[in-house]
Amino acid sequence: MKINWILPLLLLWIPSASVFAADSKPGALRFQAGAATSNITPEIGGDIVGGFVPLPSTDIHDELQARCLVLDDGKAKVALVVCDLLGMHRSLCVEAKRLIQDATGIPASHVLISATHTHSAVNALGERVRGYRSDQPLTDYQVFVARRISDGVRRAISNLREAEIGFGSVDVPEHVFNRRWLMREGTVPVSPFGKVDRVKMNPPAGSPDLVETAGPTDPEVSFLAVRELGGRMISVFSAYSLHYVGGVGQGQVSADYFGMYCEALKRLQTGGEQYPPFVALMANGTSGDINNINFQRPRKGQPPYEQMRYVAGDLAQKVGTAIASIEWRAEAILDARVQELPIQWRRVEPELLAWAEQVEAKMQDPAGKNSLPGVYSGRVQRLAQASPETKAPAQVIRIGEIGIGTSPCETFAETGLEFKKRSPFKHSFMVELANGYYGYLPTPRHFELGGYETWPGTNYLEPQASVKLMEALLGMARELAFAKP
Ligand SMILES: [Zn+2]
Repeated sequence: MKINWILPLLLLWIPSASVFAADSKPGALRFQAGAATSNITPEIGGDIVGGFVPLPSTDIHDELQARCLVLDDGKAKVALVVCDLLGMHRSLCVEAKRLIQDATGIPASHVLISATHTHSAVNALGERVRGYRSDQPLTDYQVFVARRISDGVRRAISNLREAEIGFGSVDVPEHVFNRRWLMREGTVPVSPFGKVDRVKMNPPAGSPDLVETAGPTDPEVSFLAVRELGGRMISVFSAYSLHYVGGVGQGQVSADYFGMYCEALKRLQTGGEQYPPFVALMANGTSGDINNINFQRPRKGQPPYEQMRYVAGDLAQKVGTAIASIEWRAEAILDARVQELPIQWRRVEPELLAWAEQVEAKMQDPAGKNSLPGVYSGRVQRLAQASPETKAPAQVIRIGEIGIGTSPCETFAETGLEFKKRSPFKHSFMVELANGYYGYLPTPRHFELGGYETWPGTNYLEPQASVKLMEALLGMARELAFAKP
């Protein structure tokens, strides 16, 4: 056997990476895609944060994931990450991006990290301050999530392979309802601040006092799909403007319909479990005023998880069908821009602060602190002491003819519709709760109408914030769309 002297000779000749690339890929810069999931399920006992008052988790119904998709056009990489969380503080996202850049070289601008807004996850927003600081020390769980996100992106890179990409969309209007209603005069309850709003969030379903919704819905599921050259699906990144579905078992951690949709879409793929497995992602579109409740008729009671399973299965079915009519492309130019917006925190007027201090002084018993005025007096005082700058991030990712704009807020459907209409890209959509968490983002006309989403402490940013965000997104989109490859 001559192998014993051939092997050392072979080891001496170490071709450079570029030689390998030229040998194995004659097209030089082949488009590649890889995806992976990374488990971010917390220990049992942490506080579930979806409701007004946090309650400790006592069980895990289904695992929480950071779902990661990495695209590579041969020159640049883009990482898209969707986490099964209610929201993520900016500092968590900054740390995750730092870890990713150190490990992979992908710059922070090219990494989009968003939360689904499942209401049955534990707190990744940080302790008590609830986002009124632009920089914050991380909790143990936040550190864990940042590391798991970075691990997920590294694993997605390990799974990179030559790919084709396509854009698709399907309208599914039957699961989205605007939850802000104009009501018959005198029927909107007085707000915790003692004022009468014109709009009621989540009014009683089937109430004769409903007049009309205060805004539109966006029924579109937008998605980009990547598959191997041989045809096996790698990943689908989707966005739908539905707040969440809810209806979990008491004390249970769950990824809500977002996770169930990802699993359902995986089951529909041939070879979906084959290694590396197919990964679906469901980002939240712009759903700050949208939920799954048809307010025009009384609600029927349902067992836990039934409604989310129904919504998830139906969406997966419809996206699965729409994938069949995608036009596949062998490449897509990747690029991205990010900006910290010139946006102020919402101003707390002296009278409002005085109200908050008065309410707090009167409420010494714990039950009072959990009442609406009790909760909002604390929020208003924290908002009054917010850090000087918001550092609210806005980002646009270009993936060939697709432009994804982001918002760090619970953003109204009409904002997402406006971006789709005005963006210069052939296909556009928005992802909310991205790269940080800054409360609700009503448009200026909604501040006039009032209601839950406009209350100080539910909303953190100045009333012009949605207008400034849109200008920033469209500016970056134009730069990216018209940039020379
Ligand atoms: Zn919400």
